[in-house]
Amino acid sequence: MNKVHAYAAQEAGGKLNPFTYELPALGSEEVDIKIHYCGICHSDLSMIKNEWGMTQYPLVPGHEIVGEVIAVGSEVKNLKPGVLVGLGWNSASCMHCDQCMNGSHHLCSTVEGTIVGRHGGFADQVRGHWSWAIPLPEGIDLKKAGPLLCGGITVFNPIILAGVKATDRVGVIGIGGLGHMALKFLNKWGCEVIAFSSNPDKKEQILAMGATKVINSRNPKELESIAGSLDFILNTTNVSLDWNSYLTALAPQGKFHTVGAVLEPMAIPAFSLIMGEKTVGGSPLGSPALTRTMLEFCVRHDIYPMVEEFPMAEVNAALDHLESGKARYRIVLKV
Ligand SMILES: [Zn+2]
Ligand SMILES: [Zn+2]
Repeated sequence: MNKVHAYAAQEAGGKLNPFTYELPALGSEEVDIKIHYCGICHSDLSMIKNEWGMTQYPLVPGHEIVGEVIAVGSEVKNLKPGVLVGLGWNSASCMHCDQCMNGSHHLCSTVEGTIVGRHGGFADQVRGHWSWAIPLPEGIDLKKAGPLLCGGITVFNPIILAGVKATDRVGVIGIGGLGHMALKFLNKWGCEVIAFSSNPDKKEQILAMGATKVINSRNPKELESIAGSLDFILNTTNVSLDWNSYLTALAPQGKFHTVGAVLEPMAIPAFSLIMGEKTVGGSPLGSPALTRTMLEFCVRHDIYPMVEEFPMAEVNAALDHLESGKARYRIVLKV
């Protein structure tokens, strides 16, 4: 039996406490990963509080995992002990449905979340299906790579889905954990990037990350000044905004894409879409293959999230720091 030392919440909103559990025998297509680093994502907070109604306790959060393969099942062909891998929000998918066969494993109807009904990465070890254990490219900075596995791919996938071109003018709403990674990707993509932020204190940092211009999203006049100019807008916030003013900022045939899980319905006036042939979409994460592509793009262009590191034993302080909104911009736990 394989004993895992983890941190778990025992009840909704509860503090995390040391927790050990035993893994059963390794399945033929599974791999065990010794964890080096694990990022903290807003979804971990949502899961701890059971905001989405799907948390099972005890919950070991953590789904931005970077580590080393230490055991592989008998059918695993592409990984062996010693290989460095990342494991994100998803840990397994059926491998035979149309989506899996198309390479869109993240859209599989039975895709399994790393912290949904199983224990995640705030631990010294985690288990997953080989397909989701993404081999890390040579030269990647392990200390900062964790958040790329969830937050990074979440904002990279929309750039591919929307067919964003190097010549495009684009916008990113909300420059936090997700948004600051989107800025860096779009800057290296070649785009002119407008950042929408409600926090003037972040302006200098946002410009240094590659934004061409920062627009105060609380000032309707500033929003009006860019009407009809953006080919693509990515929303990373999870609060209700004046959606129509952002649709107005889109150029004809522009695309508005949200990865922020706004819980209230989004009121979208049909005429705003019809007159300029505009579209509104959304997406979760991305496929394993696209995650690999993204990681290579990150190494090539030296794109990493800004991270603050905490020892895993201080996970509660790290979670409080994230919840206070003071994290700049992503937190990583070191085992
Ligand atoms: Zn996440
Ligand atoms: Zn499937």
